[in-house]
Amino acid sequence: MMKSSYDVVVVGGGPSGSMSAKLAAEGGVSVCLLEKDRDIGYPVRCGEAIGDSGLRKFVEPKESWFAAHLNSFSMTAPNGTSITADFTSDKGYILNRRVFDYDLARLASEKGAEIFTRAYVYGLIIEDGFVRGVKLEYLGEKKEIRAKIVIGADGVESRVGRWAGIRTQLKMKDMESGFQYTLANVNIPQNRMDFFVGKTYAPGGYVWIFPKGDGIANVGIGVSGTYSKEKSPRKLLDKFVKEKFPEASLLTTVCGGIPCDKPLKKPVKSGLILVGDAGHQVNPVTGGGISSGMTGGWIAGQVSADLIRKNKLDEKSLTVYTEWIHKEFGKNYSRVYNIKNAISQFTDEDLNNIADKVKKLPREKRTLTRIFSTALIKKPLLVIDVIKVFAGI
Ligand SMILES: Cc1cc2nc3c(=O)[nH]c(=O)nc-3n(C[C@H](O)[C@H](O)[C@H](O)COP(=O)(O)OP(=O)(O)OC[C@H]3O[C@@H](n4cnc5c(N)ncnc54)[C@H](O)[C@@H]3O)c2cc1C
Repeated sequence: MMKSSYDVVVVGGGPSGSMSAKLAAEGGVSVCLLEKDRDIGYPVRCGEAIGDSGLRKFVEPKESWFAAHLNSFSMTAPNGTSITADFTSDKGYILNRRVFDYDLARLASEKGAEIFTRAYVYGLIIEDGFVRGVKLEYLGEKKEIRAKIVIGADGVESRVGRWAGIRTQLKMKDMESGFQYTLANVNIPQNRMDFFVGKTYAPGGYVWIFPKGDGIANVGIGVSGTYSKEKSPRKLLDKFVKEKFPEASLLTTVCGGIPCDKPLKKPVKSGLILVGDAGHQVNPVTGGGISSGMTGGWIAGQVSADLIRKNKLDEKSLTVYTEWIHKEFGKNYSRVYNIKNAISQFTDEDLNNIADKVKKLPREKRTLTRIFSTALIKKPLLVIDVIKVFAGI
């Protein structure tokens, strides 16, 4: 039974919401998670790629989460030059997010979080400048739930932050438009992820092919908002699919925005924390936000439980969350953001030259640090950033 008050209300049942709920419940406070859709983890709006270390930091991976195990990647330049490299320090997976997200929510519920689906939050309760709860429609009925802290984990289209007066707008260039098909009858290597870069494929972004086993693959495109009005991501992807996979049949179509910005400078208000895509906690180069959303949730859950115990719910006390995010990955993502801006200036000719140079390296030397350093060789300060990013400094 849904109660009329909890210590923490989490809005959104994606990875960042479930991690927030799990950690807050582990901290001993009462937690409720509200998801507007019928099922946790569905519909999937994601390429589903994740690194092992980003996952293992928070949960013990389960085989049932994985559609494919990855040990290498390839990158194809506009002139068709393709370079293949092995993952050296990490391995990766293509998830079945439907299974994975569901299981994360289950882990939260095992810690005591109460989960409700078809629970659409349409407003906040704000009193004396404090967020004090949410207004929602649950199974056709309007309700209010009071909370000491609301965690907004409502994804890229987050409205929770805006309702509280946080500036969450993105610059056009930082909003990638993502479009993806899940295709059947696709014959590709099962342990490699493939990327295609350059203006012909995906201006200011890339096309990806991620294996999912049984001849199935996620084939998608991310295009920078600077170009997505003039070059429709869907048309670009259709052209790509027609050329590369003429025999494929289409199982799913998804589209969605990806906030490729720096994490929000101020993701808190009195009584409110934003996490995951809602807090712009996405790697700005790759557009990957599953593990960083989990990191955000891991921090938000702990901070919430701790501050509730101390009864310190004002904005100033909540900056402990902002500082922790910055220390954990925000500083790194600010560097990655600068790298993204430099890469987005590359012409197709630049990308061809980089691919030709990297191709001359022996395969064992084609590390991500080496590839990005080669690409940014004319910008020594960014090469230092590249080294720091990949060394995790
Ligand atoms: C095409 C595409 C491909 C991508 N590929 C990858 C990839 O390969 N790897 C990767 O790491 N990342 C990828 N991403 C990004 C990744 O999907 C997100 O960063 C990640 O899902 C963020 O998790 P989250 O929990 O913050 O938000 P979400 O997973 O978006 O979850 C938010 C949840 O909140 C719910 N919600 C929203 N509003 C309300 C409301 N008012 N009331 C109640 N519930 C609400 C939504 O229904 C949703 O379930 C991709 C994104 C796109 C669009």
